Amino acid sequence: MIYLDYSATTPVDEDVLNTYVKIQKDFFANTTSLHKLGQISNHMFEKATKETLDILDLKEHNIVYTSNATEANNLAIFGILNKFSKGKIITTKIEHPSVFEVFKSFENENFDVVYLDVDEKGIISLDQLKKEIDNNTILISIMWVNNIVGSIQPIKEIIEIIKNYPKVFFHVDIVQGICKIKMDFDLNKIDMFTFSTHKIYGPKGIGVLGYRKNIDFFKRLYGSSSQYGIKPGTIDLALIVCTTKTLKIYYPKTEDHYQNVKKMNHYLRSKIKPLKNIIINSSEEGSPYILNVSILNNNGETIVHILEEDEIYVSTGSACSSKLKKPEKTVYAMTNSVPLATSTIRISLSHLTTYQDIDKLINALEKINNV
Ligand code: PLP
Repeated sequence: MIYLDYSATTPVDEDVLNTYVKIQKDFFANTTSLHKLGQISNHMFEKATKETLDILDLKEHNIVYTSNATEANNLAIFGILNKFSKGKIITTKIEHPSVFEVFKSFENENFDVVYLDVDEKGIISLDQLKKEIDNNTILISIMWVNNIVGSIQPIKEIIEIIKNYPKVFFHVDIVQGICKIKMDFDLNKIDMFTFSTHKIYGPKGIGVLGYRKNIDFFKRLYGSSSQYGIKPGTIDLALIVCTTKTLKIYYPKTEDHYQNVKKMNHYLRSKIKPLKNIIINSSEEGSPYILNVSILNNNGETIVHILEEDEIYVSTGSACSSKLKKPEKTVYAMTNSVPLATSTIRISLSHLTTYQDIDKLINALEKINNV
């Protein structure tokens, strides 16, 4: 099997999985129980969260655990916007649906919703952002690394622009960047960030919302006061400890893995470039973990299934929209071309990918091309 869909999800790390089983078995008590067992669980919960904050070098943030990044994105955006009845909100045309669709849901209300354009490399224009941001702006949400083409937004520069508008809340979806690309910006300067453990070799079922402590969210859920009332209810200690463990293992390996995958990405590009009818949509300046290509005159979904026959697994786009036959919105925003945006596949790499995997993929693509 050749798995090249690491941006959709990753296999769980063996050590992390062992930790998961151990905690589920040995530390099952509810963290809110007053007895000794509960207090032991609670201590582990607090220790794990503190370690996560330390790994990310966060000084002013709380962490709330959710079921995945989708939920974290929703809670962050609704948590802010439900406190307002009107105002301007800004995002990009290429956000993950868990941000994009939330912004869309405010179009019918008294909100002025702005979707920033991207250029042919999938990057926003800072000038457009400067033009749009104003004193009525409440929230700006801009992803760090795009999940479809891997474009990297200039978060550091964006922070500098937003700094002049202290009332604006800035949210960054860091799902496809964390543990893959070294941050050139300070997370402490971001009001809210979100990611998910299953994208970085941890288990599924847990996402993270980091937010500046002084933010008073609108509470969407009612229940206990656990997790600051933002995500009340019993927490899964094992998933939380595994999130910390995953970060402990993979965060320090970010640069090593990046360099390794960058070489592989170059190799993959060099093999794809000579192929007829295949256009590379991802810019060389983007994340090396994602290579998006269009296979002209073919539907992306068809290609996914042809490759699957050779046990090669890629994606048409994000896992959430892969069943839809609509033009892929990120590729469309970059190219303005329906043929390119309907014939795309996303090849996503890992430090676990081998050069042989890539050779086999190339053979399979050559076969498709010659049919
Ligand atoms: N944000 C980005 C950029 C993603 O790539 C994804 C998943 O593909 C998500 C959010 C949603 O993550 P989850 O699957 O954990 O809900």
